Amino acid sequence: MERLSRLFWPVIVSPKNAVIKNVEAISRSQKLLAEMGLVKPAHNGTFQLMPLAQRVFDKCTKLVSRRMSAVGGQQILMPILTSSEHWKKSGRLDGDITEFYLLHDRHGKQFLLSPTHEEAVTALIASISPISYRQLPLRLFQIGPKFRDELKSRFGLIRAKEFIMKDLYTFDRDVQLSLQTYNEVNAAYDTLFRQLEVPFVKVEAATGMMGGSVSHEYHYITPTGEDQLMLCDNCGFAANVEICNAEICRRCKSASLQYVRGIEVAHTFVLKDKYSRPLKATFLQDNGKPEYLVMGCYGIGISRLVAAAVEVLSTEKELRWPKLLAPFDICIIDAKQGSKEEEMANKIKNDFCGSLGKVCSIEEVLIDDRNHLTIGKRLLDAKRMGYPIIVIISGKIVDGTARVELHMPHASLQIEQSEALSEIAKYTKAKSKLLNISALGFNARLNCKYRVIWMTTCS
Ligand SMILES: [Zn+2]
Repeated sequence: MERLSRLFWPVIVSPKNAVIKNVEAISRSQKLLAEMGLVKPAHNGTFQLMPLAQRVFDKCTKLVSRRMSAVGGQQILMPILTSSEHWKKSGRLDGDITEFYLLHDRHGKQFLLSPTHEEAVTALIASISPISYRQLPLRLFQIGPKFRDELKSRFGLIRAKEFIMKDLYTFDRDVQLSLQTYNEVNAAYDTLFRQLEVPFVKVEAATGMMGGSVSHEYHYITPTGEDQLMLCDNCGFAANVEICNAEICRRCKSASLQYVRGIEVAHTFVLKDKYSRPLKATFLQDNGKPEYLVMGCYGIGISRLVAAAVEVLSTEKELRWPKLLAPFDICIIDAKQGSKEEEMANKIKNDFCGSLGKVCSIEEVLIDDRNHLTIGKRLLDAKRMGYPIIVIISGKIVDGTARVELHMPHASLQIEQSEALSEIAKYTKAKSKLLNISALGFNARLNCKYRVIWMTTCS
């Protein structure tokens, strides 16, 4: 169990009648994450994660790695610096480079602070090419920082110059098999986004600077979103207006369209041989002849995903988290120091905490032991932080039995200890059900507003 009094937690306390001079538009997630001491801006467009935010990120990366492993992904780590030689070969250094961080070492050799790793991973495979067809399909992913010199970084982690990405690169024998890979990884993404329980839309997308042929984006819907999406009410088709700005639905010709704004949180691409050909990443076919590998790439913006989820779920004043990402599941608030209930409360607290290990993971419990503060003040903080379950142990006795207060986003109860423990057990069960969702069993209980029909574009 973690104690809040020991936690590095640089909350911003603004004076009561402060006049807000800064008129720069900031988003809800940016405001709440900063005020609550989770994320601190470093300099323009970069951010520092404080311990509570780091916990959220660790949960998110673990969840994502698990999904990637489930589709045969193997985790690697490539350098942040990539040689611009590779980027010359792929032709991307001849395109728009305004968002690249380019730098030179002492020998004058040029590097990029990588915005993405297609070149690097293809060069890696090329260095051992030709590989055998027996090693295919090959799926490699990493999770780490990426860099983009944004003209306008904004909304905190949502559009930052340095951000955390999961990037998966896949290698197949032919286009048909790479489309099969594409479908498998997309199914893994679908499962992940359902586990997070934030309504999402999956849309057909432009391939942009990545090149390739087939591409989809996953969006969280919020007015803060920078992309405009078209959704067909009739057939469920959805697309980024970048590729599909029309009066009628491209698939069913219905005019019943709606437009919403979304934050792109993940992107998938079929790349074919766009990188393997110039960088010479090959494999030996079963007939002994070399052939270029057929690639795909699949990104998830981890830092953006966390911020965008908060953006969608939170209220003006209180953070809200996906169940699987909350910094702690449970926050316990004990009696105020020196109050007449203190002794009784401590007895109940010890008893209660002793039993908690049976109904949840102790690592998910935070005790707000700042007992020089009133219960009310600490409850307010806990609510603003959005802990899914808040337990107040004030030492209150009703009809001769000790009661605890349980606060959840949609209910507040004054109940006996045993009842509180069984509520926590219920929550733990719901969480583990979410964690162990299988890709197959989930379609039946889709809790997202839009069902996007997209498979046909891959055949
Ligand atoms: Zn339609």
